[in-house]
Amino acid sequence: MNIEHLLSKRTLAMSGSGIRRAFELGAKLKDPINLSIGQPDFPVARSVKDAAIHAINADRNGYSLSRGIPELQARLAEKLNTDFGWSFANSASGGESDIIVTPGTSGALVLAAMATLNPGDEIVIPDPFFVLYPAMASLTDAKPVYCDTYPDCKMTAERVEQCITPRTKMVVVNSPGNPGGVVNTVDECRDLLDLCRRKNVLLLSDEIYDEFTYTESRTQKAAKPEKDSAMKCPSPARFPGAEENVLLVRGFGKTYGNTGWRLGYAAGPKKLIEQMIKLQQFSFVCAPTPLQFGAIAALDVDATIQMQEYQKRRDMVVKALAPVTGLTAPGGAFYAFPKIPEKLGMNGLQFLEAAIERNLILVNGGTFSLRDTHFRLSYAVPEYKLEAGLAVLVDLLAGK
Ligand code: PMP
Repeated sequence: MNIEHLLSKRTLAMSGSGIRRAFELGAKLKDPINLSIGQPDFPVARSVKDAAIHAINADRNGYSLSRGIPELQARLAEKLNTDFGWSFANSASGGESDIIVTPGTSGALVLAAMATLNPGDEIVIPDPFFVLYPAMASLTDAKPVYCDTYPDCKMTAERVEQCITPRTKMVVVNSPGNPGGVVNTVDECRDLLDLCRRKNVLLLSDEIYDEFTYTESRTQKAAKPEKDSAMKCPSPARFPGAEENVLLVRGFGKTYGNTGWRLGYAAGPKKLIEQMIKLQQFSFVCAPTPLQFGAIAALDVDATIQMQEYQKRRDMVVKALAPVTGLTAPGGAFYAFPKIPEKLGMNGLQFLEAAIERNLILVNGGTFSLRDTHFRLSYAVPEYKLEAGLAVLVDLLAGK
């Protein structure tokens, strides 16, 4: 059988993720310094593991409702009410928003694309981008419109406006961002929301790294401050009435160190979430049921210590690399996206190869961008590894 002949153009047109390539290369090196991994290096909290184990032992192993178990729905509604002032269709105050629990944040992104994009519709995504964003267009035969955010990785209203046409359905913003770690300011969030309202397009705010937001980037308080009035990550979802225009997408995997559990959620306009729930019924069915019980326990975990640790590592990266390359200081997530100095005459792939020769694994910028002029490093690694990796990088960037 000619199986090639049976494969869809859509699948064949997608190139494999460069992150996977870095994984493969890493497997060949002996004890490499691996700064390519986009997942936290801390263990899952005991209480979270116990809640999931308890749910398994209590025989909560069947399908759940496609929207998620009611207990998790209720906790998320409470959280988003406190954080953004949103009220939900099935809550006592009966608002116009709704929530769906999905298999990973990726599940929410795919369902959002399937629910909104027709062939030929346009979706505006940042460049550099998280690798799934162009795939949201490929999966739906929509057109990705790349918003050039170099050199500072900022998806500003001014830049986005130039990308909007009558065919635009959705704008995707990701702050704190992957690969840049850049966090939008409150004003930038407001301007983007205003633009999307004016143009009648959906603003999808991917906030998977919302808890990984460092001190100087945490500027805006919650709508209804909790007892400690914690400073929060700026978000377009925080402005009054935002739930009519914003599809908020968040996850559990990065914040609580359980990326393999595949848990995320989306919240936004009820009519859109209803369609996403319908699509979930006919595709993923539901997020893993017993792990949803673990997610409830995760919402009680205080991750402050881990976040402080990551902030310290971020400081190490900036201190080492800012003097030797163009680097927008990351205000969140656990990535940095430095420019390869032009004097080296190397593109991202060549730089990646040079790093591998010195036992260091990175991801080249072209994995996340239409251009290959930068590289991504992840500092979700123990300090001693990071220190060793930075020493290699400082030499490489200086042409030594
Ligand atoms: N959005 C961004 C910006 C990400 O970096 C990632 C994962 N690297 C995802 C979404 C998907 O995360 P999940 O594992 O929850 O599907």
